[in-house]
Amino acid sequence: HYRCRSAFKLLEIDDKLRVLRPGFSVLDCGAAPGAWSQVAVQRVNALGTDAAVPTGFVLGVDLLRISPLEGAVFLSETDMAEPSTLRAIQSLLPLGKADVILSDMAPNATGIKELDHQKLISLCLGLLDMSQSILKPKGTMLCKFWDGSEARLLQNRLKEQFQDVRTIKPQASRKDSAESYYLARLYRGK
Ligand code: SAM
Repeated sequence: HYRCRSAFKLLEIDDKLRVLRPGFSVLDCGAAPGAWSQVAVQRVNALGTDAAVPTGFVLGVDLLRISPLEGAVFLSETDMAEPSTLRAIQSLLPLGKADVILSDMAPNATGIKELDHQKLISLCLGLLDMSQSILKPKGTMLCKFWDGSEARLLQNRLKEQFQDVRTIKPQASRKDSAESYYLARLYRGK
């Protein structure tokens, strides 16, 4: 039982493209109510349920409160756009680093399409800046965006920093026509 239908988007992406592996450390941005974190806990073996493979780690962050979830650590009422959040994240991730950064973040929609688009793009760009400090070389970033004039800018920034960048439109988000994801793999690091 998942906390939200959004789980099926991540399951679909992960079944097709294998983003999450046992033993991985995952940062889940915009994690409330926690469905993606539920998927991540299973796929990285964060509970150590499968003794034959490595045990992973899941850290979820959201502006809202997130109910506790076995196998995950949550930073509730925390703004990813706030500079002090980086230190909090670093102190909770094992060795301060993540193999995968997930972002299903979405700002409160104003209904003004272009404005909502820009707000989400700037959240993603901020996350990309933060990834310099926390993402392992060859790491992965998966981020939601709403289509619009600045999507190409985000895509180009991702291409500078990752070897492989693709656009994904999961079946499970078909009804939300403006929503897509960038999957950026093989982080070049610094
Ligand atoms: N992936 C989640 C799940 O499966 O349960 C659903 C995420 S929901 C679509 C988007 C979330 O992004 C909201 O809970 C919202 O509070 C969060 N969010 C938006 N802006 C944020 C920010 N600046 N920092 C942290 N979280 C943010």
